[in-house]
Amino acid sequence: MAFELPNLPYASDALEPHIDSRTMEIHHGKHHNGYTTKLNGAIEGTDLEGKSIEDILTNLDMGNAGVRNNGGGFYNHSLFWSIMSPNGGGTPSGALANAIDSAFGSFDGFKEKFSSAAGTRFGSGWAWLCVQKGGEVEVCSSPNQDNPLMPGVGCGGVPILGLDVWEHAYYLNYQNRRPDYVSAFFNVINWEKVSQLYEANK
Ligand code: MN
Repeated sequence: MAFELPNLPYASDALEPHIDSRTMEIHHGKHHNGYTTKLNGAIEGTDLEGKSIEDILTNLDMGNAGVRNNGGGFYNHSLFWSIMSPNGGGTPSGALANAIDSAFGSFDGFKEKFSSAAGTRFGSGWAWLCVQKGGEVEVCSSPNQDNPLMPGVGCGGVPILGLDVWEHAYYLNYQNRRPDYVSAFFNVINWEKVSQLYEANK
């Protein structure tokens, strides 16, 4: 069974003004679709066919550029759409909020660390909030379409929040102002979904 491009869980203009409709259409319909198609091509006829994306990435041969780049691109964007919402923003609650306070001192401490990871990632990549076994959370970043499920990448653990800082994610609306895009992202984070991912993977 080949991987399929997931539908956006909201309309392409639902995250405006923070993320514009045209960017969402191209990002999902062209970029994410391209990673999906190329991932299927890269695993076709190999022993990776039929495995889950998490299994493929966790046990990845990092020298396999086709699966690394396109499998990462498939997984990263699928997560990215799911952790945003037109009703997002605010702050987390419950066990995730406690883990964030424990790791970063406060929500503002987390926001500063995450924004710094996103802002200082040179070139294309992602910023992550990951949960380790035991419930501790960490912030890190990775280049290109790598992610912390892959061997030796970032902070390890399972990503529960990810921010795409490739220029294709923000350039139409923000041009070179990545910090403005990162700041706007906090208005659309679906903390309910992030909390579910935290509970499922801690
Ligand atoms: Mn992207």
